[in-house]
Amino acid sequence: MAVPAFTFELCELPPAAEALRAEVRAFLRAELGDLPPVRRARSWGGWDREFSRKMGARGWIGMTWPKRYGGHERSALERYVVLEEMLAVGAPVSAHWVADRQSGPLLLRFGTEAQRQRFLPAIARGELAFAIGMSEPDSGSDLASIRTRAERAPGGYRVNGTKVWTSNAHRSDYMIALFRTHHDPAKKHEGLTQFLVDTKLPGITMSPIIDLRGSHHFNMVVFEDAFVPEDMRVGEEGAGWKQVTAELAFERSGPERYLSCFALLVELIREVGREPGERAAATVGRLIAHLATLRQMSLSVAGMIEAGRNPNLEAAVVKDLGTNFEQEIPEIVHALLGVEPTIDSGSDLQQALGYLTQNAPSFSLRGGTREILRGIIARGLGLR
Ligand SMILES: Cc1cc2nc3c(=O)[nH]c(=O)nc-3n(C[C@H](O)[C@H](O)[C@H](O)COP(=O)(O)OP(=O)(O)OC[C@H]3O[C@@H](n4cnc5c(N)ncnc54)[C@H](O)[C@@H]3O)c2cc1C
Repeated sequence: MAVPAFTFELCELPPAAEALRAEVRAFLRAELGDLPPVRRARSWGGWDREFSRKMGARGWIGMTWPKRYGGHERSALERYVVLEEMLAVGAPVSAHWVADRQSGPLLLRFGTEAQRQRFLPAIARGELAFAIGMSEPDSGSDLASIRTRAERAPGGYRVNGTKVWTSNAHRSDYMIALFRTHHDPAKKHEGLTQFLVDTKLPGITMSPIIDLRGSHHFNMVVFEDAFVPEDMRVGEEGAGWKQVTAELAFERSGPERYLSCFALLVELIREVGREPGERAAATVGRLIAHLATLRQMSLSVAGMIEAGRNPNLEAAVVKDLGTNFEQEIPEIVHALLGVEPTIDSGSDLQQALGYLTQNAPSFSLRGGTREILRGIIARGLGLR
């Protein structure tokens, strides 16, 4: 019996994409200058609405979407170049990142014409920030077990329940939320529906969850009889599971899944200098070889998206290998250089190491845990 396999084809960036790289770098130099390593280490975590508007004005949000919805009809590979340049310098992109990466594409695919016209141009201008309302207190990996209910009411739905770990919900305009519209314990993947939820709706209460670093980025979002109008439902009632798995594929396939520790890698290279000892040279060489391979694999996923294929399996492989790579960098830096991680004091390298040592455990949780991804890969290969 032939075992299904995943495919990574070499993908060269077209000249248009490389030309764009120079333009993006000049923009970033002018806008951000040379950010300190601890700021660059925030990778896609920095929030700046004004910066997002400037990105929108340059045409770098919604790049691949149709022009009639405010997009720019550029290729997935050109978009890739913009993403990797943003990540490499730690540009504050998170006010538009979720909407550009997944909420916009979701609306493009499953939204009504009225929703596309209302939301996509504003997202592409960098004016609307979106959060992801999937996880609940007792439902993370087993997302189909969610219990937040959206019950039919005149003109829409009444929502009751709780979402958790909702990144940046407190400063987002909308949330794409997954609710249960029908309950049949024997068919938990059915009866789920996605909604566009205005985060300022009456009946929604948010409370901060402070993370390991002492920052507020997570929220607990409680819905108490919140009314969501009918025209804010995304797709058919009950079609939420199929839609949400498509959305997760957008979420998992980008360079943010292996570049989170890029700033620290740069500092490591600076520290070992031009004439590193044998151990340092071998360690850095191995990391760079892994980085180059991951980049090629990730580019290959972008190339497949560009060709209209559905590289879900390959995206899961890149995310699993990519997060392993990201997570080992702080440990390697610590072991190789013997420097202690610090917070708010110490050298650039120590502070970047401090920030990423606290942040790295989350890399293999956000966007689907390591174990869940490996389950997806095993299923894709016909092994389970
Ligand atoms: C930085 C960060 C940002 C996040 N942002 C958001 C957000 O914006 N919106 C949102 O909705 N959620 C968000 N999440 C939540 C995230 O999606 C969940 O944490 C994740 O899906 C895991 O769910 P859980 O925390 O409930 O853990 P659980 O599902 O309880 O898992 C606990 C452990 O058990 C393992 N496990 C579970 N099931 C299996 C299985 N079947 N086989 C093998 N092992 C298994 C898991 O891999 C994990 O190690 C975020 C999380 C992080 C860390």
